[in-house]
Amino acid sequence: MEKYIENIILGAGFAGLGAAHAFTEKGLKCTIIEKDNTFGGLCGNFVIDGFRFDRFVHVSFSKIDEVNKLFWESCGGDKGMIKHIPNPYNIYKKRWIKHPVQNNLYPLTEEEKKLVIDDFLSRPKMTEENKPENYEQWLRLQYGNYFAEHFSMVYTRKYWMKNACELRTEWTGARFYQPSVEEVIEGSKTSETPVTYYAKEQFYPKEGGFKTFVKKIAEESDIIYNSCVIAINPDNKTIIVHSDKCTINYKYKRLISSLPLPELLRMLDNVPDYVIDATNKLEATSGYHISIALKTQNIPPYMWWYVYDEDILSARVYSPSIKSPNNTPKGCSSLQMEVYCKEGKYSESELLDGTVGKLIELDIIKEEDILFTHVGFEKYGNIIFTKSIFEDRKVVRDYLSSVGIETIGRFGEWDYLWSDQSLASGLSIKIL
Ligand SMILES: Cc1cc2nc3c(=O)[nH]c(=O)nc-3n(C[C@H](O)[C@H](O)[C@H](O)COP(=O)(O)OP(=O)(O)OC[C@H]3O[C@@H](n4cnc5c(N)ncnc54)[C@H](O)[C@@H]3O)c2cc1C
Repeated sequence: MEKYIENIILGAGFAGLGAAHAFTEKGLKCTIIEKDNTFGGLCGNFVIDGFRFDRFVHVSFSKIDEVNKLFWESCGGDKGMIKHIPNPYNIYKKRWIKHPVQNNLYPLTEEEKKLVIDDFLSRPKMTEENKPENYEQWLRLQYGNYFAEHFSMVYTRKYWMKNACELRTEWTGARFYQPSVEEVIEGSKTSETPVTYYAKEQFYPKEGGFKTFVKKIAEESDIIYNSCVIAINPDNKTIIVHSDKCTINYKYKRLISSLPLPELLRMLDNVPDYVIDATNKLEATSGYHISIALKTQNIPPYMWWYVYDEDILSARVYSPSIKSPNNTPKGCSSLQMEVYCKEGKYSESELLDGTVGKLIELDIIKEEDILFTHVGFEKYGNIIFTKSIFEDRKVVRDYLSSVGIETIGRFGEWDYLWSDQSLASGLSIKIL
């Protein structure tokens, strides 16, 4: 079967929906092809027995006015949104430490505080001549050797699946707090320190999970669900799409894709070797979310916390029920733990023992409160800032552009984009 659609967008995540909205605003038609049965992509969610879990943590702290307006309208205004003041915590050597650890050292032993502070005070200065060449050097210059080695570099292995020396530094931006000497010393003497997290407010929809932020756009868009693109022929401007019922060839005039670049390249024939080489060098984290439904509200009061201890598999834990009480049935609560690794690295029981089991061991949750657990996997999480990322993604995107395929979103731009930036990436397509 063959059909013609003038403007086709691949993927109904935030980026694809942004592009669809750009067409709609100009009174033009477009169609999104989406493999799943719903919109939202990585910002989507799943519901089991009345418990709603996002696919990883997801809260909004956007500074983009146009996006905030769209999010706000989609939630039905202020009454449809919950405002949170961030106050994350950390677990290190089984102790709770306020975030960020470097200026909240109070719960550490006196000996360890001294090691952190001495190295912080004696760290070399970052100058034009002494610029870090990789993330490990950056960490050592920012925080001193002891902190870098015992905290940040350990966390890097858990979150980025890489050693810090293998990463570039451009992505760090404002994500890391860089405390003064006074703040570090003050934070080692008292727990009464100000919150210094980079986002001052975070928002989350009251109902329907994070993806409610784009529900309105999805409702006004033409989306063909349960339809997986399997091949693209840019010469005759055709895509082949598989659904349960049939295979359809769609002819297009314009094709915009939010699919991960490596997936997209696999759909094309006759790709030059140098482009395939560049594609093979693009790396992204992948990972499991381990969701826990609890019949009580007996969980820590923090919306999320980081885990430095390596015997606990998860890098981060967060609570969907703290994001919105509507994410669970009344009187219940929930947690989700994030474990970054390749698919199949751990068996399901290893994953559960190394996450849920550890929370029980630490007395953070009670085994008898657990109603069920669920293990899910995401093949694409964060883009990894490998040494040659900028050259590689340029080669791939330039090639796609030369065959008439536009790429948007976190995995189309191949960049560390938050959901608002992914939406904005779609909104910014040129309407010809
Ligand atoms: C661990 C983690 C935590 C995050 N936390 C936050 C946060 O707190 N706040 C925030 O703002 N952002 C957060 N993000 C970032 C956010 O998830 C992304 O910016 C956003 O989801 C990217 O949207 P996208 O549309 O570019 O990609 P995607 O959401 O991946 O959309 C791509 C779409 O394409 C579809 N698709 C794929 N292959 C095919 C195919 N062959 N045929 C048809 N359809 C296909 C997919 O199903 C999907 O719907 C987080 C990301 C991660 C990994």
